[in-house]
Amino acid sequence: MEFRLIDRIRERTVLARGDVRLGIGDDAALLVPPAGQELAVAIDTLVEGVHFPHGTPPRDIGWKGLAVNLSDLAAMGATPAWALLALTLPRANAACVDGLADGFAQLAQEHAVALVGGDTTRGPFCLSIVVHGFVPPGQALTRAGARAGDAVFVTGTLGGAAGGLRLVQGRLPFDPADEAHRALRARLDRPTPRVRAGLALRGHASACIDVSDGLLADLGHLCAASGVGAQIDPNALPVPSALRGVFGSAAARELALSGGDDYELCFTVPPADVGAMQAALAAVDGKATRIGTIVEGQGVRALGNEPLAAARGGWDHFGL
Ligand code: ADP
Ligand code: MG
Repeated sequence: MEFRLIDRIRERTVLARGDVRLGIGDDAALLVPPAGQELAVAIDTLVEGVHFPHGTPPRDIGWKGLAVNLSDLAAMGATPAWALLALTLPRANAACVDGLADGFAQLAQEHAVALVGGDTTRGPFCLSIVVHGFVPPGQALTRAGARAGDAVFVTGTLGGAAGGLRLVQGRLPFDPADEAHRALRARLDRPTPRVRAGLALRGHASACIDVSDGLLADLGHLCAASGVGAQIDPNALPVPSALRGVFGSAAARELALSGGDDYELCFTVPPADVGAMQAALAAVDGKATRIGTIVEGQGVRALGNEPLAAARGGWDHFGL
């Protein structure tokens, strides 16, 4: 489509990497994968009104588009390297493209990710991003590998992004003057992919997944892939103080269990490796909270053996 738009993106995302022989501007990028490493590849699409609210600042959309993809690489324990951006816009809007590119570039610089190509088309506002990362052979973290007795951990806090979405949806209207409201909006609009934590977990975690759809759903995926169940303590879930302050403890716990978009890592560790895992995380300023234990069987249950997912009608049904 618009070459000027592509130029704007290229200028704003310049990042030199020795393994990029040819980046934006030709028919394909030419990349040099490091010898002997495995390539981890992921793609995620953000659609306006579905994955980000209408009216989200373009800078936040650009950041989030890359963040959700880097979160997938983090969950695999991969080192990010290259990205492609397919952008669909209803009209050629230079200010929007500049914002998107700047938000993308801000996070890309933090992780030395080079934007090496993409596509620009006209249509309903959405963006798809592909990321590539590297991982030493056999060392990737996968969803399979959790065993009964392993401890279940989660990085950071849960539920904040879902709280931010509630504020945007207006049942309790977003108040920009309220610091707690701003903190929750930031969790929704500017998730932090746990890339360094994912790398630190290599060799320690027996299984790992990033929490994009909600803890119950994603820990459920990990359990299904590993052929095990999990028992978690809903009272042990790390919840942002802003979430508790705005919605109260009970609703905060529900949002932490079922709310999506937090992009924390949920992982399992054999009991004998817990100390080494914590030291490795601390070395990269990472922090994780133990929330439960892997058990024989299937499904995610609360400590009292209550089947969590089945017992609740889904988080749309509780009134806030
Ligand atoms: P082609 O028609 O050969 O696919 P395009 O005109 O779509 O080429 O793109 C020209 C160059 O600009 C290509 O190198 C492509 O990868 C890059 N490009 C296009 N859109 C984007 C974008 N949104 N972000 C980054 N690079 C892009
Ligand atoms: Mg094209």
